[in-house]
Order: sequence, then structure tokens, then C-alpha cells
Amino acid sequence: MSKEEKSNLEKKLLFEKKSCWEKWDEKKKQKAFKFCDGYKDFLSNAKTERESVKKGIKIAQANRFISIDEFKKKKSGNKIYFVNKDKNLALVKLGKDLLKDGVNFIVSHIDSPHLDLKVRPLYEEESMAFFKTHYYGGIKKYHWPTIPLALHGVIITKDGRKQEINIGEKEDEPIFMITDLLPHLARKQLTKTLKEAIEGEELNIVVGSIPVQDKKIKEKIKIAILEHLNKKYKIIEEDFFSAELQAVPTGKARDLGFDRSLIAGYGQDDRICAYTSLQAILDSNETDRTQICFWTDREEVGSEGVSGLKSVFLESLLLELLEVSNKESSLKNVYKIFERSEALSSDVTAGFDPDYKQVYDPRNSARLGYGLAIEKHTGSGGKYSSSEASAEYVYKIRDILNKNKVSWQTAGLGRIDEGGGGTIAMYLANRNIDTIDCGVALLNMHAPMEISSKADVYSAYEAYKAFFKE
Ligand code: MN
Ligand code: MN
Repeated sequence: MSKEEKSNLEKKLLFEKKSCWEKWDEKKKQKAFKFCDGYKDFLSNAKTERESVKKGIKIAQANRFISIDEFKKKKSGNKIYFVNKDKNLALVKLGKDLLKDGVNFIVSHIDSPHLDLKVRPLYEEESMAFFKTHYYGGIKKYHWPTIPLALHGVIITKDGRKQEINIGEKEDEPIFMITDLLPHLARKQLTKTLKEAIEGEELNIVVGSIPVQDKKIKEKIKIAILEHLNKKYKIIEEDFFSAELQAVPTGKARDLGFDRSLIAGYGQDDRICAYTSLQAILDSNETDRTQICFWTDREEVGSEGVSGLKSVFLESLLLELLEVSNKESSLKNVYKIFERSEALSSDVTAGFDPDYKQVYDPRNSARLGYGLAIEKHTGSGGKYSSSEASAEYVYKIRDILNKNKVSWQTAGLGRIDEGGGGTIAMYLANRNIDTIDCGVALLNMHAPMEISSKADVYSAYEAYKAFFKE
């Protein structure tokens, strides 16, 4: 066999794996870089569920999507958005016949691991004031001490006012921090496992140290902090109970590497898919089939609750759409739509990290820069806590991507017995919607700063756009 014949055989038979940076021309690289400027801006300015929804609504409105309430009055156009509890956002491009044709869903989540303040967070000890926290989602606790933190969220005050808080992001604003032990005195701490070294109750945030000048007051620094908060936000201690305050890593998403090919930023799981699917529905061609970009919440803690994907909000959204389409608005019809629908559960996956080869299956792991990562199933052990896409549905998606020349790769979380994890795929599949997991491979997943490749961000956008139009 000649060398040429051999390479033709390889070309014909092998499943090609090539980095986008090798395949793409300069023009496409530039396009990807430009697209990622918008993405970084979104990451830097939407660090909580509520902030993401707010920003998403703004983008939707700027692209002539109107709220469902407005739509009911106007009864024209086909671009509608829905908001649920300020923590879910759905953008809809209503197709010709919702009931007959079903929906192309892309569902991502906008909650990320973070530290919530406890309901009674403020205390004073040894001439310092602190906030107690309770972590949300799967964090490695040792990541959080000594990094600069910002506080984001809302407080409902005694008189019912909603006070928004966002402090620690601007250069001239103070930041917050959890302390760690100096190495000189860490002899015992350093012998503990990473899991045990930092305890949940030790994730306390330093918030001040100047006391009030009043001899009669017992907790002088705590009162001083409350006095400051009262002056600035008109809040009292009891108001912390009716609040959602999150400590998140401060600062902007940044280019990473000399060649700027990577992005480091907080909350890329899963705002990376939220942003790319949003841009995809803004730019997708209109089709007979209805398109829905859906941002869910509570994924990191099992999708329970009013804003999680187990909530009936999805059904109620479709009931509303049936109504405005002049169809019988019944659950029976909603189930029919589900049956005729298809979905991408768009979420991040693990990128192969050469420093930790031992936990990956190198033949079945995603690489950064190789395009959209598709996972036939997630889960752990014997595929528990996941759904699995059928051969037929995998074919359909693969065919769409190939026809549209989207860069993609197969993915799996890691070696079978090393661990695992699920996504929202099963909650769509449980509703009888054909679903497949796909998204972007990250390094440092769930760490305060996660890493993605610009090639993958852009490939995800291209893939989602292709899916919507098919
Ligand atoms: Mn995720
Ligand atoms: Mn996650």
C-alpha cells in the first residue's frame, strides 16, 4: 500500500479529531474572537440568576422580543419572552403550527456554584465582623479562602422594598474575603485531606473592623456594620432573613494565554451555554417549527424548586403558547407537543486535563478547542441519574452538525468509576422529549475561575443556530 492510499483509507474510515485552531482559517478565528468579546461582557456583568435574567431581557427586547403579556395585547409578530420568578427566561420564536410541529428546545442553566449568606449572617468576634455563608452547589471548599469576593443579590426590607446589592466589582469599591491559616501554623491543617481541610462553617467572610464609639453597646463592630448598611441601603438586621445574597469571585472574565485563545471567568457553567443559545435564537432563521431558548435555575442542586426544571413552569409556558396560537390550551396538547419536540440539554462538560490524566478516558474525553462537545449520556456508575439519547436522535444531531460544517467532538465526563454527574437532560427526557447533552468543555469546572476555549464557545453558537433552523 502506498503512503497516499493509506492516508486515503484513514480519511475514509477514521473518526477525525482535529483542533479548530488547525482547521479554521484566519477569518473564522477572528469571528470567534469577536463573538467572545460579547460573551466575556455577559459573564462579567451577569453573575447571579437574577442578573442573568435581567441582562437577557434587555438583549431580548433590543432584538424585538416582547413579553407574553404585551404579545397578548398586540397579537402580532412571533418573538415572545417569558420570565418566571426573575430566575428563568425563555425566548420563543413561534412557528407555524406549534401543536403539529412541536418545538426545538435548547435548555441551559444560569445558576453557578457560589456562597449564599446564611439567614443570620452578621456576627462579631475578636474585633472583626463577619458574614456566615452556606455554599451552593458542588464546590471544593479550599478554593474560596483568600480570593477577592463581591456581594450580589437582593434584600426585601421590613417595609417591602426590594433593595438590590452589587458591591465589590468596581475598582473603587471594597471587596470581601474569607481568611486562611498561615503556613507557619498549618502543620495539622496540611495533613488533612482537601475535603476536610476547610469546613463549611469556616467559610466566613470578613466585612469590617471599626467599632462604634459607644461604651454602652456590646457588639460595637457588628452595630457599626449595621449602621453603615442602614445608612446606605436602609436595612435592619432582620432584613437579612428575606434576602438572597451571594458571595461570588469579583472581577471580569479575561483572555487567558499569550495567544488569547482561552477565557478565564466565573460562572461559565453554565452561562456559556446560556449566552451562546441566546445569541443563536437571536440570529437563527425563522422556521415552521417553534424555537425556544430556555434558561433554567437550580441545576447545581438537583433542579428542584419553583425555578428548577422539575417545576411545571415549562408546561404553563406551553399552555400560554397554545392559547395565543388559538389552539385548545390543554395538558393533553402540551404532552402532544412534548412528544413532537426535540431538545438540546446544553451544559458544560469536563475538558481533558493533562495534569490529571488518571481520571479521564483519553479516547472518550473532550479536548478544549475541538468544538461543541456532545454526550450521548451523562450520569455515574451504571449510567445512573441521567437520560441517554437514542441512536436515531444522535444520528439526527450529528447529521445537522455535519451538514452545517460545525466543529464538534464526542465527550464523556471521565473514567467510569471515578465519579460522574448529571444535567437537566433527564428532566426534559422524562417529559418524553428527545434530548441529548451537548455544550462546551471546561477546565477548572466549578472552581471560582473556569476555563473555556474561544473555539468551543463559537462552535456552540454555530451548533445551536444550526439546531434551531432544522
Ligand atoms: Mn452545568
Ligand atoms: Mn455544574
